[in-house]
Amino acid sequence: MSAPDLEGKKVVVVGLALTGIAVAKFCARRGARVVVTDGKSAAVLADQMAKLDGVPVTWELGGHDTSTFTSADLVVMSPGVPTLPEMTAARAAGVEVIAEIELAYRFLSPEATLLAITGTNGKSTTTALTGALCEHGGRPTFCGGNLGNMPLIDAVDHPANAPGGLIVAEVAAFMLENCTTFRGATGALTNITEDHLDRFGTMERYAEMKGRIWDFQRPTDLAIANAADAWVMRETAGIPSQLRVFDSRPGAGVDRGACLSADRASIVLRDVAAAGDEVYPTSDLVIVGNHNLENAMCAYIAARGIGLSVDAVRAGARAYRPLPHRMELVGDLANIYFYDDSKGTNVASVAASVRGFPRPLVLIAGGVDKGGSYAPMFEALDGACKGLVLIGAAAPLLRDAAAQHGVAYPVIDATDLHDAVRRATGLCTSGDAVVLSPACASYDMFQNFMHRGRVFREAVDAVGARRLDAR
Ligand code: ADP
Repeated sequence: MSAPDLEGKKVVVVGLALTGIAVAKFCARRGARVVVTDGKSAAVLADQMAKLDGVPVTWELGGHDTSTFTSADLVVMSPGVPTLPEMTAARAAGVEVIAEIELAYRFLSPEATLLAITGTNGKSTTTALTGALCEHGGRPTFCGGNLGNMPLIDAVDHPANAPGGLIVAEVAAFMLENCTTFRGATGALTNITEDHLDRFGTMERYAEMKGRIWDFQRPTDLAIANAADAWVMRETAGIPSQLRVFDSRPGAGVDRGACLSADRASIVLRDVAAAGDEVYPTSDLVIVGNHNLENAMCAYIAARGIGLSVDAVRAGARAYRPLPHRMELVGDLANIYFYDDSKGTNVASVAASVRGFPRPLVLIAGGVDKGGSYAPMFEALDGACKGLVLIGAAAPLLRDAAAQHGVAYPVIDATDLHDAVRRATGLCTSGDAVVLSPACASYDMFQNFMHRGRVFREAVDAVGARRLDAR
């Protein structure tokens, strides 16, 4: 498909945040008549509006006008924007309504390679790791999408959007829902667990949207799937591309894809880029936990699948550092290690972080409860946990859940995160770890998960730990 001509077209950009700003600039540069609309008022959006100073756009803020949508040539949605009645009206009037990634995709060179990664958890890590491997392959690489401050539309004018270039994109289900042609030559789906059901209604619908990562692929394209995830595998039925799977279950073997060696010290790639097995030591990676081995298996298949060398994969893996606040090793106090997993904002992600953790740990958890069961987290902590230190509003709920699970380790209340780090350190001996992985939202005590992680670092400094800044 050749890139669309936006000259003179009326493009309605829905949502004025990072992505909407980038899309508005992009379309205005290409001569479109851009209308930017957002449900929030101009007063609330003043800072965002300032970022479009000098860009010729028309504003429609504090609500939406149906006729603006129905008279558009194209409506472009930012991620996170709900399905608005105005969009339905636009579609009924024959107007195309698409996600930002779909617009970006239409401008990507067919000679650049797009690797698209989705899943409920692990999207960012897998995307960033794949990006790191690609960079070590020496080819121009763009790594972004839902990740960081790099919406996919920014890839269009990036040097990677050229023959031989690599574009690695994290994509969310919300985005895929509004795609009609978006196709990664490599499409990966890490896992599907309950999330966003308020938006999608049922798991079936949510999984179907995730599965769209493969729907428009071609026979030569690569689909990467988590063999241990029934929802993911369900979506592989009938896909047009070539399937490669990864499987972290003990003893699992795969026909084509990745699994772990019996001692779990290696990732084994089977018949991916070359016939037979390739063995990659997991000691190349500083990221820990079974979930990160899954993320790495997925990234390695993607990288070898597009022809990067074994050396590039290993060098990229060795150079890769965890994203902030995802099991990030931030301090060491006489062999007591401190991990910031402030992004562990739900029970499933905490369970993933602590399952198979290589040393005894004291967990700091709590914050704003999200209404689910904590049982999977306590099951994952069994055997590894030496103590639980509670913060925030959910502390009583966590204490009850711990009692119900019958935990034998101490459960201690802390007044704040500094107090929690002091108390958790007191429960540790040499070789143990203190892990902040709260299983809760942060806004009772912090601005967001990043702020919570920063305060944790300060608290780790305050107990006298040596700062380990992996970045
Ligand atoms: P996402 O971008 O999908 O939110 P991240 O890579 O940012 O995912 O990881 C967020 C949290 O989710 C991590 O701190 C970790 O606890 C958990 N997580 C990461 N990868 C996986 C995975 N493959 N499976 C399950 N949980 C994971």
